Amino acid sequence: MQAENSSTGRGEPPSGNSMQALKKFTSAGRGYWHDVSEKDWNDWRWQLKHRITTVEQLQKLLPTLTPEELAGAKLANTKLALGITPYFLNLIDPADEHCPIRQQVIPRIEESHTAPWEMSDPVGEDSHSPVPGLVHRYPDRVLFLVTDRCAAYCRYCTRSRLVSNATGYDFHPEFDKQIAYIAAHPEIRDVLLSGGDPLLLSDDKLESLLSRLRAIPHVEFLRIGSRIPTFLPQRITPELCAMLKKFHPLFMSIHSNHPRELTTEVRDAMGRLADAGIPLGNQSVLLKHVNDDADVMKAHVQKLLMCRVKPYYIYQCDLISGSAHLRVSVRKGLEIMEKLRGHTTGYAVPQYVIDAPGGGGKVPINPEYVLSHNADRVVIRNFEGKIFEYPEAADGSPLSAPPKEIVEPELV
Ligand code: SF4
Repeated sequence: MQAENSSTGRGEPPSGNSMQALKKFTSAGRGYWHDVSEKDWNDWRWQLKHRITTVEQLQKLLPTLTPEELAGAKLANTKLALGITPYFLNLIDPADEHCPIRQQVIPRIEESHTAPWEMSDPVGEDSHSPVPGLVHRYPDRVLFLVTDRCAAYCRYCTRSRLVSNATGYDFHPEFDKQIAYIAAHPEIRDVLLSGGDPLLLSDDKLESLLSRLRAIPHVEFLRIGSRIPTFLPQRITPELCAMLKKFHPLFMSIHSNHPRELTTEVRDAMGRLADAGIPLGNQSVLLKHVNDDADVMKAHVQKLLMCRVKPYYIYQCDLISGSAHLRVSVRKGLEIMEKLRGHTTGYAVPQYVIDAPGGGGKVPINPEYVLSHNADRVVIRNFEGKIFEYPEAADGSPLSAPPKEIVEPELV
C-alpha cells in the first residue's frame, strides 16, 4: 500500500525540536493590526466587526494566496461564507501554503468538486429533526441548533448547509417550538447547544435560553459545543463565565485541530472557563495537512491537557460535499490511535469515531486489541504488541482448570 502523506502541516514529519515548538504556548500577536488599541483588540465585538469576509480583504492581508485558494475564495459565498477573525488570521503562516491553520479556514477551489458519495447533510440531521433547529437522534439527548452563524467558517463544516446562510437554508431561530418539544419529552435529559456557535449570542440571550432549559425538570445536563474559544478567545469574558456557572452541571466541548491553535490567549480563556467549574472537552476532525500525523496529534492532545481540556473525540471527516481534499483514510486514523493509546496519558487519548453516513450516529473505531476469544481464554495484545491471555470460559464463567497450552496455529 502506498504510504499516505504524513504531515505536520509543513510537509515534513516533526523532529524532536519541532515537537517541543508545537507544544510551546505563544500569542497570536497583532500582525497587520499592530496599531489597534489593546482595548479594541481584546473586545470580541471588535474582532467580529473586523472579520475578513471578502476576497479583496483576504488578498490584501494574505498576498501569498495560491491560485487554488484565490479561485476558492471567489466562490466561497455560494456554499459556505468566507469568514476569519483577525486573531485567527494571525496564526496563519503566510510563507507556507500547507500551513495547518490556513487549510482550515481559507477556501480552495476543490470545495466546488462533489464526489457522488458526498452529501449536503452527511449525518442525516434533517431527517431526525422533529422541529426545525432540533435534532433528536439518540434516545435521551437532543442537539439544539441555536444560531446559524459562526465567528469563522471551517471549510469542512458538516453543517455548511445551515451555517453562514450562504445557501438560504430555512433556519428558524425562535426558541419556543424547540423548548416546547424538549418540555414535552421527559426522556430528554441532556441538551447540547450548538449551531452555528451558541457563544455568538449575547450574554443576556444565552442566559435567558439556559434559564428556560434549566426550568424543565427532566433536563439534567446542559452542554455547549463551541469553536469560539479557538476562533475568538476574547469572547470568553469573566462576565460570560460568571453567567454560565449559574447553570451547572454545564459542560463545554470546544473544537481545535492543531497544537498551534492552542495559544496563550486560548489557554487563558480555558482557564477562565475551568475556574468557573465548567468541565471542558475537545473535538477534533482528522484533516489532511492539519493533523494527519501521530506526533502532531500527540502534541495536540498533550497541549490540550495543559489547557485543562480533555481530548474527547477525533472525528473521521464527514462526507460533506467538497471535502475530499481534506479527508484522511480510516486506516491512517487507526494508525494514529495506535500511536496514542498506551504511549501517552490515558486522559489524553480521545475516542476516534465515524458519524455514520445517513444518520446512524457516532460509531467508535478502535484498533484491534482482542486477538481471539477461545474456549478457555481471551487473547489480547498491549500497546507494545506483546500478547497476553486472560483465562475465562467462552460463556464468561470462571475456569475450573488452567487454560491448556496454546496450539500455535490457533493464535495465528
Ligand atoms: S464553527 Fe462549527 S458550525 Fe461553524 S463552521 Fe466551524 S465546524 Fe461548522
